[in-house]
Amino acid sequence: MRNKSDRKSFIADFEQKLTNLFTLRLDPLKQNLQRGIPPFLLNEVLNLKPLSASIPTEFGGRGADPVEILSILETASYHSLPLSLMLGISGALFSEPLAKYGREDVKRKVFSQLMNNNRLGGLMITEPDFGTDALGMQTNYKKVEDTYHIQGTKHWAGLSGHADYWLMTARKQKDDLSLNRDIDFFLCDSSDPNQQVIAEEYYNNLGLYFIPYAKNRVDIHVPVNYKLEPKTTGIKLMQDLLHRSRMRFPGMALGFIKRMMDEAIAHTKERFIGGRPLTAFDQVQRRLAELQAWFTAASAFSKNAAEISGIQNDLEKQGLIANVHKTMLSEMMQKASQSLLTLVGAAGYRQDHLAGRSITDSRPFMIFEGSNDVIFNQIADSFVKGMERIKEMNLLNYIKTHPLTTKASDLFAKHINFNISSNLNQRKRVDLGELLGYIVTAQLTLELGESGFNKDLINNALSVFREKAASLVNSIHEASEAFCLEDYLPHSQWQESF
Ligand SMILES: Cc1cc2nc3c(=O)[nH]c(=O)nc-3n(C[C@H](O)[C@H](O)[C@H](O)COP(=O)(O)OP(=O)(O)OC[C@H]3O[C@@H](n4cnc5c(N)ncnc54)[C@H](O)[C@@H]3O)c2cc1C
Repeated sequence: MRNKSDRKSFIADFEQKLTNLFTLRLDPLKQNLQRGIPPFLLNEVLNLKPLSASIPTEFGGRGADPVEILSILETASYHSLPLSLMLGISGALFSEPLAKYGREDVKRKVFSQLMNNNRLGGLMITEPDFGTDALGMQTNYKKVEDTYHIQGTKHWAGLSGHADYWLMTARKQKDDLSLNRDIDFFLCDSSDPNQQVIAEEYYNNLGLYFIPYAKNRVDIHVPVNYKLEPKTTGIKLMQDLLHRSRMRFPGMALGFIKRMMDEAIAHTKERFIGGRPLTAFDQVQRRLAELQAWFTAASAFSKNAAEISGIQNDLEKQGLIANVHKTMLSEMMQKASQSLLTLVGAAGYRQDHLAGRSITDSRPFMIFEGSNDVIFNQIADSFVKGMERIKEMNLLNYIKTHPLTTKASDLFAKHINFNISSNLNQRKRVDLGELLGYIVTAQLTLELGESGFNKDLINNALSVFREKAASLVNSIHEASEAFCLEDYLPHSQWQESF
């Protein structure tokens, strides 16, 4: 691990290079429209060895220090969210798990390629019929002599058709041809003819134009030492991997939200309506204060991730906090971009404008690594189970005892002093999950304040979180019982009464 001044100068050099590339070398309008990352840009970025941040020192890397990894992602996403995600994929979804679970000889070769020859890696989990339900994946493998033969179909893996290496997931085929419940991970080297994953159909992804996505045919043979070695089961390896990856969201979110905030402040100071700058209007102030609250929250999540998410820690049991990182930050990223577009007005709706692009670029963060609807539900389940265990169904009383919320409980006391029913339906659990997300966010924000962070930003953020929490409480109490009427056509045309 590097010392503070070395880290600072590494990040400063990276920042300076990106400022140069994105403001002087790339046309700001065209960069928002181009599909695929321009090769010169990728090379110049990778020449600074940002991926070395995710690689342990014994393999020539900078030590996989989460502070540095998060800072790289933050710096990149201020300039380009797609670039930051690309580095996030190669780091969190490839290098970090390989560093933790790969064989020594394999790691030495692959990490050297990533750092010295600008190679990239990605992760393939999702299949056309198995997304949310990833554990049901049908890609399977069997041992054939000294290789594993892996077959299946994967789609939506970031860097499809582009990555030099993959971590491929598959289930072992048993003698009766059924599949093992556990999932295994394999390194796959695209430069080997026996390990070619074929991108059969490229997708026209709505945003994130730098990153290719596709449907991929997998029919590969990988050497036996390419199988990752879980400490116990492959499913636990996957949980450790995904929870750490969710704790890389703060870096991507922080730079992105800071950019939305800076653009919004600059625009609202300069744009005059009826002789007054936009900043003079109360609703504009509300939006700017919210943007600053999301910025403060992302800083708080970054601090938390830096403290707990190093590869030396096993995160398979940290699902709850990892889920709060993922959901809250992705919601805040989307809200930040929506607010910027509103404040910019029609100009923001141009496809080549940063505001419009940012909406489509940040939207999938709410879907990949688990749809937020599903994860908010899981967050609520985790708390409700805990409440049932100690037979304490009053939300405030329970929040006071939970390690992730105890410090913030007083802030929300007025709103959350009510009983939770064990058979709360799913839509209310989703709202409850988000409410709990705000309370955890408030606790992390208080902890950020204790470390010396700007007190005014902290206080403003807490006031925004309280307002959001209050409206969620309302929604939990009032959520409708309406269901979809599939046969909705009879008597559903208003013209019939004329
Ligand atoms: C831009 C982008 C990048 C991605 N990158 C990668 C990658 O690098 N590697 C990789 O392997 N995959 C990747 N994915 C795939 C991603 O992880 C999946 O899309 C995601 O897990 C959801 O799966 P699905 O699309 O099949 O949706 P589905 O599983 O069909 O779910 C669709 C929707 O159904 C609803 N739903 C599902 N289950 C429930 C439930 N239990 N309760 C209530 N509602 C429910 C939710 O609204 C959900 O959003 C990426 C996807 C995108 C869009």
